[in-house]
Order: sequence, then structure tokens, then C-alpha cells
Amino acid sequence: MKRITGIPVSKGLVIGRVYLLEEDRSFRVGPQAIDEMDAPAQLERFELARRAAIADLDALHEESTGEMGSEAAKIFLFHIGALNDPTILKPIRSMIEQDHVTPEYATSFTLRKLAARFAKHPDSTFQSKVDDLRDLAARLLSKLSGKSAATLASVGKNTIIIARDLTPTQTAGFNREHVTGFVTDLGGRTSHTAIVAGALSLPAVVGAKNITTQAHDGQQIIVDGNKGTIILDPDEDTIAQYQALIQTAEEARISLHELAELPAITTDGVEIELLGNIEFADEIPHLLDEGGQGVGLYRTEFLYLTGKQSPTEEDQFNAYKQCIEHLKGKPFTIRTFDLGADKYTQRQEETPERNPFLGLRSIRYSLQNQKMFRTQLRAILRASALGPIKIMFPLITNITEFRSARYFLNEEMEELAEAGIKYNPNIEVGMMVEVPAAALMASTFAQEVDFFSVGTNDLVQYTLAVDRTNERVASLYTPIHPAVLRLVRDVTRAGRKRDIPVSCCGQSAADPAFAALLIGMGVRTLSVTASSLPLVKRAIRGLSVTKCERIAKRAIGFDSEAEASSYVFNRLRKIVPEVFDGRTVG
Ligand code: PEP
Ligand code: MG
Repeated sequence: MKRITGIPVSKGLVIGRVYLLEEDRSFRVGPQAIDEMDAPAQLERFELARRAAIADLDALHEESTGEMGSEAAKIFLFHIGALNDPTILKPIRSMIEQDHVTPEYATSFTLRKLAARFAKHPDSTFQSKVDDLRDLAARLLSKLSGKSAATLASVGKNTIIIARDLTPTQTAGFNREHVTGFVTDLGGRTSHTAIVAGALSLPAVVGAKNITTQAHDGQQIIVDGNKGTIILDPDEDTIAQYQALIQTAEEARISLHELAELPAITTDGVEIELLGNIEFADEIPHLLDEGGQGVGLYRTEFLYLTGKQSPTEEDQFNAYKQCIEHLKGKPFTIRTFDLGADKYTQRQEETPERNPFLGLRSIRYSLQNQKMFRTQLRAILRASALGPIKIMFPLITNITEFRSARYFLNEEMEELAEAGIKYNPNIEVGMMVEVPAAALMASTFAQEVDFFSVGTNDLVQYTLAVDRTNERVASLYTPIHPAVLRLVRDVTRAGRKRDIPVSCCGQSAADPAFAALLIGMGVRTLSVTASSLPLVKRAIRGLSVTKCERIAKRAIGFDSEAEASSYVFNRLRKIVPEVFDGRTVG
């Protein structure tokens, strides 16, 4: 039995079996020569590998059509098509026959060249196929090496994925019936991979240092997503102990769930609006079930992360419409694509950015990819005729970005009007405040925006210069830091002066202590993941705004984050012990 500790990022306890995900998907194989006489045998070896790969893909296609629907399963048809495509096969075969290199090198070289061409292609349909080419190469290489080509799609029940790192796309693509949790060597608390885990209610621990070198396939494992503990090869007593904990947690969840019907009202009678953050439309029923009053943040970029090609205007319109149908008139804030940084774009690039979090991300990416951006704006506007949608732009850093984004929105409105297509001309347009520059200039922005939504995930990262995905600096990622609090206070002040609502949709709002500080600074709308809603509500129902104001004021005045958070927790523990007892800074 071995215990390992990492950073807990998605709550829950699970007992399962390890599936070790190979990291090296770069499919780079060095040149290896073969004897000229050996070429026919090597060609035959390639042929056998190709046929075996097709047979696997056929089986996967059939299986997944039942599980995911025929549209999603089409991806396997693309792979099968590629394995029969002469433009791919001819160069591989000729390299083996004429250049006398191994099938491994010929496969790797040819598919890498093609992937690089696709990545540079101006049409995003080609760009989105880069990952597929990687998968294809990995499959062929594993067939050539004779190793099992077990892929994520074919794992058994109660599988816990162990990987060095996972992209949000990989995580979103897990077979949710079989994968019940994951652990990674790398990663931080608010990385988008962690956020996806929360959305899928998948217990997860990241930053578990070298778990990949300690775990092996099929091993029994316990993952405690509440504390960040991982136990490999647990003994019988430990398993029994965790089974009991799982049972108790389920009972506690049911009792918290009973709060869903009650309002989120403070002891001095102030109602707080509790909304949910979603990545997929089908999260909404669960969100409403947990007592969410609407959607405060729809991370639309997940349409890119899960789809195999760029979502069309129609795909997007349908996704937004589906949300509206679930929400039945409840508030719905759509954030325009927040691509870049740890989401999507880097893997398509031939030369990834050196500092993607400071790079072409979010609204910057949208403004440079106008066609994509305008398509999204049109889809949102069309959906605005069907329900109460607000639109929000991410990562606004200067006023020109906001004005440009708004200009495109107005242009699309005009086009729709000319075409006689309905939309809401008075749609509210807001911005995320997630960069210190935007917080410091909030009073300027307040003259032009309809609302602010503070994104603490990024605001903390950029204020404290701590990469939100880096486990090495995770202990420095401290939302209750006087610098962060001052910035949030500046935003609420600016909002109040102009009567502009200020909400918060960062993960920290799900931490009852930070939620108390937000309320103390004047925030009246919180948007968090569905599963966090009951606990936040319980805290709110035990707190008064007056006390929150006092605590926030003191916390802002401390010299250090350590003093601030220990003060905040000590105070809150006295006021609402049932929520804060045993809870530590986090
Ligand atoms: C944030 O930065 O707080 C936020 C909500 O956006 P995201 O986590 O998607 O970057
Ligand atoms: Mg953000």
C-alpha cells in the first residue's frame, strides 16, 4: 500500500483500477535504415499493422455508435479512411521500398509532415484534424511494435486514468460510464482540465508529482478528490474505511441537496443570486437540480474542444438554443470563445507560443480570427430572440478590445436586421474582469459595459504571477491575498458608482470563505460549478452581509495573504462552524 498526495481539484471519493495513459503522443521516431533485401518483409509488416489498425477501428466504430451516437462515432471513419488513402500510404510504402527505412520511421515521418501541413492550413477543418493524425500514427506505431493499442475509448468500468498531464479536450472526451476519476503528475487547481473534471463530477487530483512512475495498469487505487490523497494497492481495512466514507459522503450530499429548494439569503435578509458555470448544455438539468438560478458563465470554447471540427453557426445556435430550452426563461450569460492558453490552439500550432497564457488567447484570438468570431456573434444574436441571453467578452485588457468586439456585434446586428432575422437589439453586453489592468481601470470600462463578471481564476494568476496550471507554484496561488481583494473591491466600487452589476464566476467563488469576502465587497451574484452550489448556499444562509463587510474590510488591510486568510477563517469558523470547522485555507 502506498499513499501519495497531490492537489485536489474535483471532489469525490472513488475506488477503481489504474489505466496508465502513455504520454508520448509526439510520434517522433528517428530514421532507422533497413537492409535493401529486407524491404519486402518490412512492407508486409507495415501492411499487417495497417490491417490490424483498421480491424480495431471498425470494432471501435461499431461500439461507439451505440454509446455516443453515429455523428460522434464518425471520427473513427475518418481514421479508417486515412488508412486506405493512397496519398498517405504511397509515400510510406515508397520510403520503405526505395529509401530503405523502417516502417516506423516512414509512418512517423509521413504523418508528421501531413500534420504540419494541416496545422498551417487556413481552413480550420484541416487544423482540427491534426490530433486525429497523431492518434492515427500512435495506433500504427503501436501495431508495428506489437504492443496493445488499448485506447481511452476501450477502457473497462471503474477506470482511473493516470497520466503525466491531460488536456481539457482529452478530459472532456473520457467515456464517462467507464472513467470514474483521474490523477496527473502535473497541473494546478484552476487549470481548465481541473474545471472540466468539476463539470463532469469526476473526482480528480493533479500535481501528484511522479504518480506515473509509481502506478501500473490494472492496479487497485483509491482517489480522494476532497483531500488530494491517492492510495495505490490499498489493503482490505483501507478499502473498507473508504467504502464507509463513500457512503457517508453520499448521505451528506443528499442532506445538502435538500437546501436546493431554499433561497440563498443572508441572516440579514439579502438575497444572493446563485448561478452555475457550464461547459456543456447537458449540465444544466443537474445545475437546476442543485438549486442554480441560471447560468452565469457558459464556456462556449468547449464546442471547439469536444467537436472534431470547428462548430458551424448552426452547431452553435443549436447548442445555445438547447441551453435556453433547459433554462426556461432563467438568466443565461454566454461568454464568447476563450480559446488559447491551455485550451485548444497550442496543439494545432507548429510552433507553440512560448508564453501562451500571455499570448494570443481569448478575446485577442477572436479579434484576430474575425470570421470565427463573427460566426459566433451571429449564432448568439439569433439565439437571443429565444431567451434572456447576455453576452460577455473574456480577457478584456484595454478599452479598444471591448469597443472592437462591440463593433463586430453591432455589425452582425445590422446584417441580421437587413436579412429580417430576429435578435434582441437590447442584448446586455458585459466583460470579464480577469486581468489586473481591467480591474484597475474598472471605472473607465464601467462607462461602456452593461455588467462586469470577475474571473478570479485568471485574475489571481495574473495578479500574483502564478501559472494556474503549474503544480510547482500551486501553494502561491492564494485568492485570499490582499492584492487580489483590493482589485476586486475596485471593481465593485466602480460598478456601484455606475449602477452596473458585478458578479464573480471564478472557482474561488465556490470556496465559502472567498464567497463571504465577495459578498462583503458588494458582489450579489456568484456563478460556480453546480456541485459547489449547496455548500456555498449553506454558508450564505449562516452569514450576514454586515459581518461579511467587516471581515472583508479587515482582510484587505493585512500585509500578507497568510495573515488575511488565517483571520478570515478564524472569524468564519466562529460564525458558521458547521461550514468552516475543519476547513483550511484553499
Ligand atoms: C476565470 O478566469 O476566472 C474564468 C471564469 O474563466 P476561465 O476559468 O474559463 O479562464
Ligand atoms: Mg479566465
